[in-house]
Amino acid sequence: MDRLYQQLGIDPDTSKLAESTLATLRERFDEIDRNAEINQLKVIKAMQDAKVSEACLYGTTGYGYNDIGRDTLERVYAEYFHTEDALVRPQITCGTHALALALMSNLRPGDELLSPVGKPYDTLEEVIGIRESKGSLKEYGITYSQVDLLPDGEFDYEGIKNAINDKTRMMTIQRSKGYETRKTLSVKRIGELISFAKSIKPDLICMVDNCYGEFIETIEPSDVGADMVVGSLIKNPGGGLAPIGGYIAGRKDCIENAAYRLTSPGLGKEVGASLGVLKDFYQGFFLAPRVASNALKGAIFAAAMFEQAGFRVVPDSKESRHDIIQSVTFGTPEGVIAFCEGIQSAAPVDSFVTPEPWDMPGYDAPVIMAAGAFVSGSSIELSADGPIKPPYAVYFQGGLTFEHAKFGIMKAYQSVKNAGLIK
Ligand SMILES: *Cc1c(COP(=O)(O)O)cnc(C)c1O
Repeated sequence: MDRLYQQLGIDPDTSKLAESTLATLRERFDEIDRNAEINQLKVIKAMQDAKVSEACLYGTTGYGYNDIGRDTLERVYAEYFHTEDALVRPQITCGTHALALALMSNLRPGDELLSPVGKPYDTLEEVIGIRESKGSLKEYGITYSQVDLLPDGEFDYEGIKNAINDKTRMMTIQRSKGYETRKTLSVKRIGELISFAKSIKPDLICMVDNCYGEFIETIEPSDVGADMVVGSLIKNPGGGLAPIGGYIAGRKDCIENAAYRLTSPGLGKEVGASLGVLKDFYQGFFLAPRVASNALKGAIFAAAMFEQAGFRVVPDSKESRHDIIQSVTFGTPEGVIAFCEGIQSAAPVDSFVTPEPWDMPGYDAPVIMAAGAFVSGSSIELSADGPIKPPYAVYFQGGLTFEHAKFGIMKAYQSVKNAGLIK
């Protein structure tokens, strides 16, 4: 094994450090395996309860009327998330689209959207109109208010209470930290926040941006009062196999609104051919608990490796986890770039290219992304990205197998070390 690692560009010192680091994480990994087992059973139960049959694996074309595979898959998601209904479609192009759809279809002119957990994910700034953009909620007369987390990371209950007014129709809660260095919210804390908000305004629609959070705990935000949970299929629930797609699971009326917006008033869920993606959607969802747990182990291993080297890591290697994201703060652009180069060089696809920062649509600073994925841009596959702006933190996630995640982190560590950034 050492020889193979050397052939792949890892020094013996780095290999040794990786092994000794891993030895300290065994107990933690056992606990993750137990959760994966629970979630695997939950998924199998959802598939059985929805009566998935072989016929469901074949798709439709054209209008997609009577697409039994599509409709059954939406049942599977609804069963797993314990919601009344779900919309799971290849026509939802990405996570941002799924979130935009959930928002735009359930808000009307004059309504207000509240984020009680601070600034939402970068791409949502344009959806909401925090940053000027064509077609934003703001353009349609939907206002936005935000209450930041307190300095210690707690909810500002007083501020939230004051922010909820007659116009407040919907609340958006982002589970994962995104490109922030705050902590990710546990499902339990999300539940407390929803209960509080609904005690003030019972008909408030509570939406959770569930990106990167699926299968990390054994309950989901929809188990603690969320009216909609929303995510991307090229993250956790696609299990690495879904080639495109997004989902919204939730209350029947909310999903109905989303379906009429996605297709057309009058058509709703009845149209939308599934083409050839259903088998991958089903099989990906089936594999997702294991895949998400592999990624989770990778994140913890990364935290442990870079913590020892003296970098700030969020979360640290000991604390509880609620998503698969690992941030490492380097404080310099060089650190971010070296880390991403290391991840890229560990990829099965495009390992020989050098990632560079660029002005990606939807982001306000150049972003560097490392990904050598089978599905373009898939971040359940081993990947890293970071905006080139202070505090110069990199966000690492994914790994379909733990072995690959481990190797990627060793390459990233080696790359940062080769750049002279580890003492
Ligand atoms: C990835 C992500 C999104 C947006 O998803 P895309 O598929 O990249 O459009 C939104 N919110 C969070 C927290 C995310 O991690």
